[in-house]
This record gives sequence, C-alpha cells and structure tokens, in this order.
Amino acid sequence: MGNNKHLVTCGDCGKVNTADNNAEEIKCRLCEYTSEPCDFPDYQLDIYLGDIKDLITNLGWDYQRMSQSGKETYMELCDLLGMDEGYLD
Ligand SMILES: [Zn+2]
Repeated sequence: MGNNKHLVTCGDCGKVNTADNNAEEIKCRLCEYTSEPCDFPDYQLDIYLGDIKDLITNLGWDYQRMSQSGKETYMELCDLLGMDEGYLD
C-alpha cells in the first residue's frame, strides 16, 4: 500500500493536494506550505459541494440578467447538483 495517495486540503491556502498515505510531511504544491499531515485535513467533497450550491443559489439572483446560453448553463449546473429550484423566480 506504500504508493497509495489520497486528497487533502492545504492548511494554509486551502487548495487540494495529493499526499502519500504514509507521508510524514506534506508540501502544498501551490503555496509550498510544509507541515505534518494533521495540518492537511482530508478533502471532503460534500463540504465543497455545499459551498458550491450556496454560490449557485447566489448566482440565481442574477438569473434574469443572464444571456440565454448563460441561463442554459446555469440550469444544467442546477440539474447536475440536484437543485431543481432556485432559478424559477
Ligand atoms: Zn497551500
């Protein structure tokens, strides 16, 4: 299992990195922050999805001002994320 990697988030800049499962130290590929694995929490997709859904909900307030193709993309995003309301009003 020595080569297994998992996704972590940088404790400094928050970007997603891959890290060896048995690494004693992890270095962020973007900000070069280097620390122990406890400072690089596991990447959790559902948390990010929650943030993304909040942003899409905010974007919904501008729905009427979007171009037709923008509206179509917005509706596709909502469909993908199971948000079937929010752009109707
Ligand atoms: Zn970083």
